Amino acid sequence: MNQATADRTEIAVVGSGPSGMIAALLLSRRGFSTVLVGPRAKADPRTTALLDASVAILGDLGIWEDIAPLAAPLRQMRLIDDTGRLVRAPETLFDSAEIDLDAFGYNVLNNDLNSVLEKALAASSVTRIEALADAIRPGDDGVEIDIEGRATPLRVQLLVASDGRSSRARDAAGIAVQRWSYPQSALVANLSHQRPHDDTSTEFHTPHGPFTLVPLKGNRSSLVWVGEPKEIVAMQALDDAAFAREVERHAKSILGPMTLESGRQVFPLSGMKAKTVAANRIALVGETAHVFPPIGAQGLNLSLRDVADLGDACERARSNGQDIGGGAALSAYAAARRGDIDTRIFGVDTLNRTLLADFLPIQMVRGLGLYLAGRVGPLRRLLMREGVAPSFRGRARSA
Ligand SMILES: Cc1cc2nc3c(=O)[nH]c(=O)nc-3n(C[C@H](O)[C@H](O)[C@H](O)COP(=O)(O)OP(=O)(O)OC[C@H]3O[C@@H](n4cnc5c(N)ncnc54)[C@H](O)[C@@H]3O)c2cc1C
Repeated sequence: MNQATADRTEIAVVGSGPSGMIAALLLSRRGFSTVLVGPRAKADPRTTALLDASVAILGDLGIWEDIAPLAAPLRQMRLIDDTGRLVRAPETLFDSAEIDLDAFGYNVLNNDLNSVLEKALAASSVTRIEALADAIRPGDDGVEIDIEGRATPLRVQLLVASDGRSSRARDAAGIAVQRWSYPQSALVANLSHQRPHDDTSTEFHTPHGPFTLVPLKGNRSSLVWVGEPKEIVAMQALDDAAFAREVERHAKSILGPMTLESGRQVFPLSGMKAKTVAANRIALVGETAHVFPPIGAQGLNLSLRDVADLGDACERARSNGQDIGGGAALSAYAAARRGDIDTRIFGVDTLNRTLLADFLPIQMVRGLGLYLAGRVGPLRRLLMREGVAPSFRGRARSA
């Protein structure tokens, strides 16, 4: 590597979506000189349910207090079997008070979340480069990054790759991925409604996927409607008023008449997992490492735990006098993330596939599982706690 290109930056975070912005904030807060490379976030009408463990991470960063006034609490989650099948699960209600939480999490517009993160970055010591990373060359003692519009490459000890599902940085690290798809699409939109949601998220389980209404501030909810692609295309084609009536009909009018507030977006359902989250001085976080279907609000919540574990691994390396981009630090990070990522991917995949399965025994097992969750307190509380964050991770971090 050319020493003339060297500078003192320890970490470059490549990719400035929510995962990258949060990674840059956390790593700079822990005392690492950090550059964030990537364009500013585009307008994004989607919403994100940030679960309790994410709220704690954002709280430690001093950001949660700016997000909280913009977010709606999710105090209860109601599951309704709307499959119309022979074996149907009873309605199940999960209440956050049962596990001593004020709320499972909080739902916020991505535009609001991104604005708060941009503001926090502007007030932080993170150096911002609003350009795309081009060629990336990992070497024995550092990583060189060519950046569009800059004559000299950036040279850092560790590159944090948060440049999304088609990541260039992941390719540069030589990390392969496994991809899969589902025979479903998700339609997302935000609606206002006449009746209050009472801080309750309601999930109708249909034979083609979950139809979920998640509270927003006021009498408003975000919709994630997972269904067969042809059904979703038909819904996308309706005019706004007809679409709002269809949503009300599918929601059994529990929230009363509805009005569409945002545009509608459609996402084909797919999944992706990187074979490892770290190699060759490059650590993956967020959708660079794992892509989920939008079921169970897991994607960005898992990304925040990636970022927290990466911060821990870097801090441990520094206090042991080790290289933060070296093999020991990256192995520690990869080991910390493996169980969390694998169990979340398995959980979301199983939930979705058991819903799609027409096979009667599978429907019976699913129905029995929900019946037991509704009736057996300790099981219900275990499911709620594990849904918010995996308990084994908390034990590992405090060890
Ligand atoms: C419909 C839907 C609903 C969802 N709901 C939830 C939810 O309720 N809760 C939850 O936790 N998750 C949810 N998710 C998942 C969540 O939205 C994603 O996990 C999250 O947006 C991914 O953020 P990211 O920063 O990892 O990736 P991205 O947002 O894809 O960011 C990647 C960034 O990298 C930049 N980039 C790309 N190439 C380069 C380059 N060469 N150089 C520099 N920068 C580059 C891009 O411009 C972009 O800014 C949902 C997802 C969907 C689709």
